[in-house]
Amino acid sequence: MTERTLSIVKPDAVAKNAIGDILRRFEAAGLRIAAAKLTKLSPETAAQFYIVHKERPFYQDLIKFMSAGPIFVSVLEGENAIAKNREIMGPTDSKKAPKGTIRGDHGTDVEKNAVHGSDAPETAKWEISFFFSQADVH
Ligand code: ADP
Ligand code: MG
Repeated sequence: MTERTLSIVKPDAVAKNAIGDILRRFEAAGLRIAAAKLTKLSPETAAQFYIVHKERPFYQDLIKFMSAGPIFVSVLEGENAIAKNREIMGPTDSKKAPKGTIRGDHGTDVEKNAVHGSDAPETAKWEISFFFSQADVH
């Protein structure tokens, strides 16, 4: 089934000049870039994006991290895009992520883990509309 998912190259990976390497991995896996932009989240906007985690002990740190520098946001489209993207990303904790995954190669720890990817069709829809108007998804 053709799906769309939201991807974010987080501030740590943008600062490492890894945007190109990360996009290359998506394209090599057969995912098509349907929308993209470099932007920067305010703390308020980061708090809204991660509202699902508001009760978690790491919420404030996550807001600080995600608003610390520019991010590269894209919509990926393809067969099973949501699961495929999460497979390419690797597990949340970069220290446990295998080499060859984005988090294993570019992340640092459980927080600074280089990329975000939607986890389900409903969240993908919400996250895509959080960043892109319909006219900017091609
Ligand atoms: P994922 O990004 O793999 O879907 P979660 O949705 O559980 O993971 O968490 C969202 C983000 O919050 C993670 O990508 C990471 O940046 C941060 N995070 C998750 N767990 C922790 C933790 N235990 N300590 C600090 N930051 C965390
Ligand atoms: Mg998540």
